[in-house]
Amino acid sequence: MKTIGHFIDGKRVAGKSDRTKDIFNPNTGEVQAKVSMATPSELDAAVKTAAEAQVKWAATNPQKRSRILFKFKELVEAEMDELASTLSSEHGKVIADSRGDVIRGVDVIEFACGVPHGQKGEHTYGAGPEIDVYSMRKPLGVVAGITPFNFPAMIPMWMFGMAISTGNAFILKPSEKDPSVPMRLAELFIEAGGPVGLLQCINGDKEIVDAICDNETIQAVSFVGSSDIAQYVYARATANGKRAQCMGGAKNHGILMPDANMEQAVKDILGAAYGSAGERCMALPVVVPVGEGTAEKFLEHMLPAIEAMKVGVSEDAEANYGPVVTAAHRDSIEADITKAVEEGAKLVVDGRDFKLQGYEDGFFIGPTLLDNVTPDMETYKDEIFGPVLQIVRADTFEEALKLPSEHQYGNGVAIFTQNGRAAREFADRVEVGMVGINVPIPVPVAYHSFGGWKRSAFGDANQYGMEGLRFYTKVKTVTQRWPEPEVNDDNAFVIPTF
Ligand code: NAD
Repeated sequence: MKTIGHFIDGKRVAGKSDRTKDIFNPNTGEVQAKVSMATPSELDAAVKTAAEAQVKWAATNPQKRSRILFKFKELVEAEMDELASTLSSEHGKVIADSRGDVIRGVDVIEFACGVPHGQKGEHTYGAGPEIDVYSMRKPLGVVAGITPFNFPAMIPMWMFGMAISTGNAFILKPSEKDPSVPMRLAELFIEAGGPVGLLQCINGDKEIVDAICDNETIQAVSFVGSSDIAQYVYARATANGKRAQCMGGAKNHGILMPDANMEQAVKDILGAAYGSAGERCMALPVVVPVGEGTAEKFLEHMLPAIEAMKVGVSEDAEANYGPVVTAAHRDSIEADITKAVEEGAKLVVDGRDFKLQGYEDGFFIGPTLLDNVTPDMETYKDEIFGPVLQIVRADTFEEALKLPSEHQYGNGVAIFTQNGRAAREFADRVEVGMVGINVPIPVPVAYHSFGGWKRSAFGDANQYGMEGLRFYTKVKTVTQRWPEPEVNDDNAFVIPTF
């Protein structure tokens, strides 16, 4: 059986530890490969060569750095089909969705190609008598990213696109569940002309995450994953003096106002709740019908739509979604459905014990719909991360607004309405980082930035866009004067004022 090692110094290398983890094909339930768990000494060696490569890279003209990223983007696009197929085989999402995973990452690479403009710094001519002030945005050095299983192409590219374009070297620690696409991306960067050592891919688990947080050369850590781990990584990395941006879990609400275009809203909520088997941090697992009769109207449209949905293998072009990532994750989702029922929710559609003919060992779950969910239920408070939609009924706009605002997570939220005034007020007052108005999955485009609030993000910098550029750079400000040869009679003991 194939064992995936690491990508260090421009090539694939075997891991040195004898500790490995299984990589499944979620469609069949089979173990298709193993991945080596790196040791801290393997990380140290990778960081050492990354640091050497970074010095030269930072001194390379920004436009030359961009050209390599531009070439990288072309290579990724040329290999889209293979990347999507590999991604689906390890993650389980359908091929079209895997393509989307790659494309949304490439969007950030495109933005990163324009970084020379954003990184120019500021200049003031004549800030004082014959005094000019200018600032530079310097790279941090070696930085690291730790990524989740659910977007193995997009999230690494969010991070290394911004880090590398601004002159840093990047150590990527992908999810151990689906490392093949991140490994190939590191390889494509070399094929695009990227310097050896600048983008290293180290596979591993908690041991290597701890080593990244403790490593003295690594200057910043970007993390995306579940909230408890995000908080842990944030605390450990910052305690070691590093910058950290750590994105966590989510429980996004869709507020369904009585005046919404119901047909369109149901279509949008269906895709956002069940697409990618609900394994998206911007999925919409909670719908809040507002006012009398709205929930009934919603159910009337939603039930036949669920009935018509197709769960299938990743390669099935007709399937709406595929299996979840592991058997353990499937079991935890099913346990949450059982718990929701015990807590008093009404199970309208039950996806437990779903079997796909010919793929009985695959990690499939049917779409599940729970009604009469209330804010005190644990299964409402926690993230389920599966194809499970919960209905929480609200009588008024104010009651609906309170639900996402008071929830522990604050990643995304959507409102479905035809009333611009209500939508505007909602967007202004809701305590959530990313808001969609008649847009179910409001992931901002690459030249804005991505980030939630509350337990969905620890740290103060969003991913990508100008926020990403700021995260991966530090400002140096120069105040300069080129005086006449005569000595001036300034009082050198008093702080200069102009
Ligand atoms: P996870 O937290 O299990 O793993 C994320 C990363 O942390 C992986 O690289 C993993 O190897 C590492 N890790 C796991 N356990 C660790 C530990 N004990 N100590 C140190 N490191 C550890 O998350 P996941 O299951 O891969 O991804 C799903 C989660 O990610 C969901 O909660 C989802 O909402 C969240 N997510 C958030 C965003 C966002 O931007 N807010 C985006 C995508 C996914």
